[in-house]
Order: sequence, then structure tokens, then C-alpha cells
Amino acid sequence: MKAPLYTGALAHFEKQTLVTIASGVTCAYLGDERNLREFLVADETAKTLREAGHTVFTLLVDDSLDPLNYRQLRVAVNKDPRLMERCEHWCGTPIAHLPDPFECHASFAEHYEHVLLDRLHRLDCHPTLVSTSKLYERGLYDPYVSLVLERREEVLSFLSDRFPNYHPEKLFHPICPQCGVIVDTHIERVAAGAYHITCERCESHHDLALEQVKGKLNWKLDCAARWAHFRIDAEPFSKAYLEPIAGSFAVASALSKEFFGGKQVLPLHFGSVQQDRDTSYLTAESLPAGALRSLFVDKPSSDMRISRDLILTTASRYEVMPGMTFQDFIKQLLPMWLLTPEALDPMQRDLVSRGMAFSRNFLDAEVKLHLPTRERIEGESPFILSSVRHLIAEVVEMRLGEPVPYDAFQRNLKTVVAGFEQNKKAVLVCLRAIVGQDHGIPVSKFLFALPLDYLQMLQYILDLHLDSVHALPMASSSSFENQLAAA
Ligand SMILES: [Zn+2]
Ligand SMILES: [Zn+2]
Repeated sequence: MKAPLYTGALAHFEKQTLVTIASGVTCAYLGDERNLREFLVADETAKTLREAGHTVFTLLVDDSLDPLNYRQLRVAVNKDPRLMERCEHWCGTPIAHLPDPFECHASFAEHYEHVLLDRLHRLDCHPTLVSTSKLYERGLYDPYVSLVLERREEVLSFLSDRFPNYHPEKLFHPICPQCGVIVDTHIERVAAGAYHITCERCESHHDLALEQVKGKLNWKLDCAARWAHFRIDAEPFSKAYLEPIAGSFAVASALSKEFFGGKQVLPLHFGSVQQDRDTSYLTAESLPAGALRSLFVDKPSSDMRISRDLILTTASRYEVMPGMTFQDFIKQLLPMWLLTPEALDPMQRDLVSRGMAFSRNFLDAEVKLHLPTRERIEGESPFILSSVRHLIAEVVEMRLGEPVPYDAFQRNLKTVVAGFEQNKKAVLVCLRAIVGQDHGIPVSKFLFALPLDYLQMLQYILDLHLDSVHALPMASSSSFENQLAAA
């Protein structure tokens, strides 16, 4: 069942074939997992529309002319004192005009655009990146900027009539032609077609013709211009932005329609996301992509709090393969998969790295391999142990042959197990004990999934033990350890 947000979008765009959905960000740092919801809700809406036959464009708009601030810089360089000292004076300059602090991309903005896109790609979310600094550079905003600067009074009076509670400090943020900052600058006056720009940072003054003025529109006007230009149809917004009296959405919608010939945008209202500090930056690396994605998109309009409890519950419910939750996988299958990393496909490897991160971050445990312990084997009757050995040998043989689907494997296994007659239960209990799977997934399932190498090793250990029991019936107390050492 799709949530009302998605079915609402389906109904809204029923007669529209091409749909463009945008979401916005400032790529000054990566941040924790909270803002993922906005991008994923946009993407899930696009997916729903595509499934219904629409052609959908998804844009991720980076406000790359936004100035870097101190708080963002601290997060971006992870409080590295050397980098802080080197980059501190960058604050106030647009992120697109700053170098990459890590020296691997063309700019500060581009570094974090790549990091964010990498994170989204892993979640099967592939928006087209739009960097606003490039749009301004290429002159795409020129008509909108001219309009706002030339009809400034008209824009202000429209805003004060329609939104008496909204008093924009600036309609346009000019960039200082001398030092490059976009804060501490303003247009002081317009006289004889010249824009007089003052920069308090470097205490300079400039008289510029309209076409020489560089900078960006205030965010609501920028949004309005972008909606009109790209013919945006829908964009996700949280409650705070949708407040009708002076919220960003209402103001930007009115400006877009009144001045830029834009049309109504459908707001995709998503619930707020809070995140506990002890889950920050750990959630994305610890959950499989599908689990993380459904956490954010399944109930898009509900408020949520990312807590350890929520993550543990998610792991205990999310199935990584039929009948096996992520939590079961971590406890039961992952240790065995680690034995044969070269045999894993890329998806299995991803699952392994999520599982290891999950154990480390949320279970406070390292992943360990279950090997049969001495107590497990020596407490058991040789008759039951040899039945277990027989069962494992049959499974190894089946698994070495032509690959069969799970249900056929299960049927064959049933025949073997039926052969144990009244000892059936004891044999299965013993097998579970040996492989450390006292509870949880069915025997047939783990015998189907455990790496063959591991099963062969069990077979070998049981062979050694049983051979020694037959050879030296009296020497049972420490023989198993010796055999392992010898093996
Ligand atoms: Zn870089
Ligand atoms: Zn300056």
C-alpha cells in the first residue's frame, strides 16, 4: 500500500506525461542522515509516477552560491585543527568559489556534491545535479536578476501587501568584486543606471552596470526563478516551510506566479526527522540500502526520530533474503560468509560490510565465526554425532552437484532427515548446537546458505573426532582439542 503522499501525486499528475521533481540542498558538508528523507521522498514519488507510465525528471539543486559559514566548515573538515586554521578565512565566500579543502575536486561545493551523490546512488537514488553557481555563471538567471533589481520597489510592495509578516533583509546578495565574499555586502543605491555596491569585509565600494553585478537572489526569489525556469512540478517541503502566512513555499509560489510566469508547484509534505546523537553518521553505513530507504520513505508524512531502538527494530524486521532478517543474517550467516570473501558477489559484499558496521555500531560486538566447541562435541553420543556427520556429508554432496533451487534442496534434505527415524530431533538439536544456531532460521535454510567450505570443515572436524573415539575409546576428555591442533 502506497502512502497518501504518493497516491496524491499520482492523482495530481494523472493527465500530465512529463513531470519534473526538484529537491534542494547546500553542499557545504555531508551531514548526518536526517536530510536523506527529503531526497528519498522526491525519488520515491518519481518512482511511483514512473511505475504508472509517466516520464519523470528528478533534479537535485545545490545552492552553491551560498556562503560557507563557520559551523559548516567545522563539520566539513571534521574539526581538523590544521584544516580549520587554513580554511577559516574562507567563511563568507560562496562554496562554489572556494577550493576543495581535501584537494580532490574543482571546488568546495563539488567535493560535497560528489560525496552526497555517492551516498544517494547507494540508495538507488539518481537525481540530476544542478549547481546554481553554474546557472548564474551561464547567465540563466540574468532575466530574473534584472527584473528584481529594476523593479525592486514593486517586488517589495507586492510582498508587504501579500505577506505583511515577511520582511526580506535583501532581495539580492551581491558578491564583492574585490574580495569575493557574499556576506557583509549590499547594494547601497542605484544612480544613473549604476549599482553602488559596498563591502564591509574589505571596505571597498564599486559602481557597476547591471550586467557587471554578480551575486544571487535571496533564497525565496531564487526558488521562484528556478521553479519558473525548469518548470518544476513538485518539490518536497517540511511543515515549517509550508506555513501559509509567511512560509517559504507560499512566498516563493506567489513570487513565481506574479513576476516570473511560473505555475503552481505541488508541495510534497514530508514529516520532520530528529536524530539521536549516538546514531549520527552511523545509520547510513550500518543498514542495507533497502532498509535505510524504506525507513525514510514508507510513511513519508509521519514525524520520525532516528534512535538506536528504531535501528535495532529495523534490523530485526527487514528481510535481506526470503525468510531471513538482517539481524539473523548478522548473527548467523555473516560469520560464515567471512570465511570465503572471494566467493561473494558485489551485493553480498555490501551486505557483509553493512553487517560488520551494524555489529560494531549497534551491537557493540565484533563478528565472530562459530566453530564447534569441545563441550558441544564431547558431550554428545558418538551415534548422534555420526548421524550429524552423515547429514552434513549428504548436504556437501548435494551442494557440490548441479545447483538446485531451495525447494528441491529442502525436499531432498527431508528424505535424509526422515532416515534418522526416532533420533531425528536429537540429530537436529546437535547440529544446531555445533554450528551455533540454537534458535532462529530453519535447519534447511542454513544448510542451504552456509558456505560449502565451512560445511566441509565441519565434516572434517567430525571425522577426526569420530575416528579418535573409535580408535581410543578411553581417551575422550582432551582429544578434541588435540585433534583441532593437529588439524
Ligand atoms: Zn574533493
Ligand atoms: Zn570585499
